[in-house]
Amino acid sequence: MKVIVASFQCESNSKAKLHPQKHDFEYFQGEDIFKKLVVKDVFEKNGFEVVPSIYAVALPSATVERETYEYYAEQILQTVRENPDAAGVYIFFHGSMEVEEIGSGELYLLKKIRGIVSEKCLIALSLDAHANITDELCSYADIISGFKTVPHIDQVECQLRSANALCYCLKNGVKPHAYMVRVPFLLKNDTLQTAYEPLKGLIEETLALEKREDIFTANLFLGHCWIDAPNTSASTVVCALEKQTAERVAKDLANKLWATRRSYRFLCEAELPEECVKRAIEGKERRIFITDSGDNTTAGAEGDTTGILRLFLAANPNKKTCVAGITDYELVNALWNTKDGGQVRVESLNADGVIKSHGEILGWTKEIIGRSLTVSFGNVDAVFTEYRSAFIEKGNFDKANVDLLGYEIVVVKLGYLFTELKPYADRELFALSDGASCVELARLNLKRIVRPMFPLDEFDWEA
Ligand SMILES: [Zn+2]
Repeated sequence: MKVIVASFQCESNSKAKLHPQKHDFEYFQGEDIFKKLVVKDVFEKNGFEVVPSIYAVALPSATVERETYEYYAEQILQTVRENPDAAGVYIFFHGSMEVEEIGSGELYLLKKIRGIVSEKCLIALSLDAHANITDELCSYADIISGFKTVPHIDQVECQLRSANALCYCLKNGVKPHAYMVRVPFLLKNDTLQTAYEPLKGLIEETLALEKREDIFTANLFLGHCWIDAPNTSASTVVCALEKQTAERVAKDLANKLWATRRSYRFLCEAELPEECVKRAIEGKERRIFITDSGDNTTAGAEGDTTGILRLFLAANPNKKTCVAGITDYELVNALWNTKDGGQVRVESLNADGVIKSHGEILGWTKEIIGRSLTVSFGNVDAVFTEYRSAFIEKGNFDKANVDLLGYEIVVVKLGYLFTELKPYADRELFALSDGASCVELARLNLKRIVRPMFPLDEFDWEA
């Protein structure tokens, strides 16, 4: 029996401007997809013939344009057309890919696949915990498994859970039932972290449920507030042997998740940018990080805003400060040929600076994706990158030729600070800045989401 394996992921952001292009996707085809996916062994050990399709994964970006979407979707469909007798299909999606003119990229592809494979074919998915589940998803997918960690560290376990469940069902002739309940809340993504209560306890409950013989997966999806679409919200999805079980357990989890809606808080100081800059300058800690959450490149924003940099330039701090990862192609290009130590004028900032260092951008996949240029304005160094970047670890600073350890204040374009940077941060300030990844739901002005929606609306709800 054959199982087709593929992955196609890009988390969308309706407010962002940069649509992912074909070359923005990290791409593998055939056997090479298993450099990235871990499910091959599971299927082979269970006696299945594995048919690899493609792996195409891009950083969070603006919505996907139809042509780009179809370029990759068509390759997956081609594999399915060549193997219409497949017993199973496994796909690792994100779950929040919004395609222009199409809507949910995941749902659209699943509908097409269902039109090709046999009625008996089982489809299993792995999804990000921030997937915005469509109402129809469970009509097209049999097994759905989401990450249980935010920040995400269990991508491997999530793949294995779906793959193992798919093997079990195919070998035992079981047709599982997936049931989804939309939980009408949409909270600040960065306040929802699974290492802390109340999510910690709820996740443990899903793990206990999955130990039951009659439940394959039990999932909490927390939603992702940066897409203006009808499927944007939290949800629960349960896959079980019996439809009634899936429904009952999904509703029970939904009610429990709903009950926690007022419990989520930022786990660090979260303030407007002006206050963060003030606190960072006055702070006594050895090194203070500020995350520019409204321009969070890992949430699809461009990383091109200079609001916090301008605040520091105006404040002229007596601390060594680094603002890292400002996207500005024109600036890098125009000043690139000036040697280190050379004086430059940056008109866009109305400031004179000195070139501090030339460097490279370490990309998401640890490859070099372009050039960076660091300009010093007194005590404030600004690292400009010709393409969008995410400074998530010390390696990004190293490649940019700036010494992270030499700074007392560091600004990065993230939401919560990535685990890899935490050891360098004696204090963390979350700047509630405006931008494509602004965390204030009311300021996002979402028009297409289902209402009522907490916290925009106050209402009673029960699954
Ligand atoms: Zn996520």
